[in-house]
Amino acid sequence: MNSDIRVRFAPSPTGYLHVGGLRTALYNYLFARAQGGVFVLRIEDTDRTRLVEGAVENLLRTLSWAGLECDEGPAQGGPFGPYVQSERLELYAAHIQTLLADGKAYRCFCTTERLAELKKAQAAEKRPPMYDRRCRTIPVEEAERRAHEGEACTVRMKVPLLGEVVFTDEIRGEVRVSASVIDDQVLLKSDGYPTYHLANVVDDHLMRISHVIRGEEWLPSTPKHLLLYDFFGWTPPRFAHLPLLLNADRSKLSKRQGDVAVEDFRAKGYLRDALVNFVALLGWNTSDNREMFTLPELVAAFSLARVGKAGAVFDHDKLDWFNAQYLRALPADALAALCTPHLEAAGVDVGDRARTDAVLAAVLSHLTVPADVVEAARIFFEAMPLAEEGEAREALAAPGARVVLESFARLAGDVSPWTRDAVKECIKAVQKDAGVKGKELFMPIRAALTGRAHGPELPVIAELLGRDVCLERILAALR
Ligand code: GLU
Repeated sequence: MNSDIRVRFAPSPTGYLHVGGLRTALYNYLFARAQGGVFVLRIEDTDRTRLVEGAVENLLRTLSWAGLECDEGPAQGGPFGPYVQSERLELYAAHIQTLLADGKAYRCFCTTERLAELKKAQAAEKRPPMYDRRCRTIPVEEAERRAHEGEACTVRMKVPLLGEVVFTDEIRGEVRVSASVIDDQVLLKSDGYPTYHLANVVDDHLMRISHVIRGEEWLPSTPKHLLLYDFFGWTPPRFAHLPLLLNADRSKLSKRQGDVAVEDFRAKGYLRDALVNFVALLGWNTSDNREMFTLPELVAAFSLARVGKAGAVFDHDKLDWFNAQYLRALPADALAALCTPHLEAAGVDVGDRARTDAVLAAVLSHLTVPADVVEAARIFFEAMPLAEEGEAREALAAPGARVVLESFARLAGDVSPWTRDAVKECIKAVQKDAGVKGKELFMPIRAALTGRAHGPELPVIAELLGRDVCLERILAALR
């Protein structure tokens, strides 16, 4: 164990785990595991207006489902706890006192109305919203007196008026920001809770975090954080800002264009390993562009050096592809455990386990998620599938269709035993007998047996249906 390497995932419990959050958690986990470091989970719940009942439990459950076990956190504890920010309020209060005493922060008595007006005026002048520092010049004694008398106030950081903040991001390289554009950020709110910025810096320091790996949306906060480290006289951690996740149209990934909650993907039947594999490649790759990775393989292959700067498109089709790959790789038992509940819920009798397994094997390559089995396997369980697809109806109405079906019905009688190989031979015989091949041969048979134009291989379908059902369906199509 290399306990100098300490990283953290620091979600705010706002209801669900966003796939972007899963990516951040995963990269932190991989970075820690790859280096024998420590992976810390810290709950950042100081924004009381955004709290959601049960969100922490949900987060823990989802991370654990994803296989991202942490070393220190609310559930396991650890030497730098508590790991929930609302349980650390005294620590933040003490640090605020230090900043006030050192002249690095000041009390602000501006009302929300005044701040709103200010913002409006700045917007009208097309200026970026920034506090105008009115309270920065209130003499300290006066400010302390007013606070003691109970006047509502916040505490803001005293950003230097001149100079630059410069740092090297592990992913983005050198970042320079002029102090003149950094806001006098509120550190302590009037409700006594710290803001994200103060709590985050204090905790990263006290929890001895060596690398802060987080989404790019936090990059604008980093100069403020670095100033805070400087105010406290602390050595800052290293920073790595992960590229944004984008929708296919390159806008920021949003719920409007599909699911973003890990729980939703899970509920839809996306497999843990598929989702993790897919998410790992959102911003990171290996030089050979390998695609399939188990979690331990990711640990072995991961490095921050190969995380890119460019936004990563969240491609749902690619996720579907990964899920299909992982479904196909499952042992029969595991596949049955995932699929049979869906069949049962649809009223299918799955009592004949061998047949159910054979059906699953037949439709497997047509599944993206387990629930797809209901539609894919209907042809095997419904008394008589309807020729519901236009393409299938057309195939049955085609000029040569009757000849093919009549020939099949006649020749099928001699086939014994009714296996997929024997059916294959039988179809070959129909080809000769009816004098047609290719689509004209296969489509009428497929349409008659399944009511559809696509699906598993014809001999496999025929074997699973059994000769009687096949003949019944062929005769029905001929009627
Ligand atoms: N609480 C922040 C979040 O919700 C953490 C950002 C950070 O990692 O610094 O993502």
